[in-house]
Amino acid sequence: MTSVFRFAPSPNGFLHLGHAYSALLNADLARAAGGRFLLRIEDIDPERSRPTFEEAIYHDLRWLGLDWPEPVRRQSEHVAEHAEALQPLKRRRLVYPCFCTRGEIRAEVARRGPSWPRDPDGSPLYPGTCRHIVEPERLRRLGGGAPHLWRLDMARAVAETGPLSWTGIAEDGTMHDILADPARWGDVVIARRDVPTSYHLSVVLDDAAQRVTHVVRGQDLYHATAIHRLLQVLLELPAPLYRHHRLVLDEEGRKLSKSIGSASLRSLREAGESPAGIRRRLGL
Ligand code: GLU
Repeated sequence: MTSVFRFAPSPNGFLHLGHAYSALLNADLARAAGGRFLLRIEDIDPERSRPTFEEAIYHDLRWLGLDWPEPVRRQSEHVAEHAEALQPLKRRRLVYPCFCTRGEIRAEVARRGPSWPRDPDGSPLYPGTCRHIVEPERLRRLGGGAPHLWRLDMARAVAETGPLSWTGIAEDGTMHDILADPARWGDVVIARRDVPTSYHLSVVLDDAAQRVTHVVRGQDLYHATAIHRLLQVLLELPAPLYRHHRLVLDEEGRKLSKSIGSASLRSLREAGESPAGIRRRLGL
C-alpha cells in the first residue's frame, strides 16, 4: 500500500516556521517512504479563512520547494458531504442539538465552581445542559428554527465503542499503541452553528477520503487524536498512523502563532532568507 502523507493548513494567517517544519517533515517522510505528499486546505471557518492567506500558502510552500498533486482538496467544497456524515450519528442519538449561547455556558460553568473539569486544551467542559432536554422539546425548538450546534454525547459514544487506542509513530520510527481517552473532552462540538461540520468531523472524513495513511502534525493536536479515533470508529473509517512532532518555539520559548506576531515565512523571505536557510533553522 502506498503511504500517503498530508499537510493541512487553515488559511487564517500567513504560514510561519512551525508550518514550514510540518510541511517539510511530511514531504521528506513521504519521499523516504516512496509515498505521496498531499496538501489540503482546511477552510471550513467562514469568518477566519481568506483567499489571500490561501494564495500565500501555495506561494510559500512552492518557495520551500514542495509540490503536490492538483487539484488540492479544499474542505469548504465538501461541507455538504461532511454534514451528511452527521446524519447516522443523529439517528443513533450519538449527537444532540445544543441551544446554549457562550454566555449561558460561561454562567453555568461559573455556577459549578472552580473545580469544574477542563479539557486537555484548558477549556471548561460543556456542562451538559442541552443533553437533558427531552425529545419533544428538542423537536419543538428545532422546528421553531432556534439557533443550535451539535454536540457529541460523549458518554453514549464511548459506551458504544468501548476502549480505544491509536498507533503512534515515534521519531525513531518505532510504533506504539496509545490509549485514547476522548471522554476528557466532554461533549465536544461536532457541527458548528455557522457551518454544519467541525474541525474534528471534517479532518477524519477528509483523511479517509484522501486515503491518508500517516497523519504527521504538531504536538498541540496530540490529545485531539482521541476524538478523531472515536469518530473513526463510530463512522467506520480506517485508522491512519499518527506522529506528533515537536513544536517550533520562538526565542522566548513560546509556541509560534499568528496571534503573538511570529515571523511569517513571507517576511523571512523578504528579509533575504533562503529555503535552504529555513531547513537549516529547522534542523531538517
Ligand atoms: N488545520 C489544522 C491546523 O492548521 C491542522 C489539522 C491536522 O493536521 O490535523 O492547525
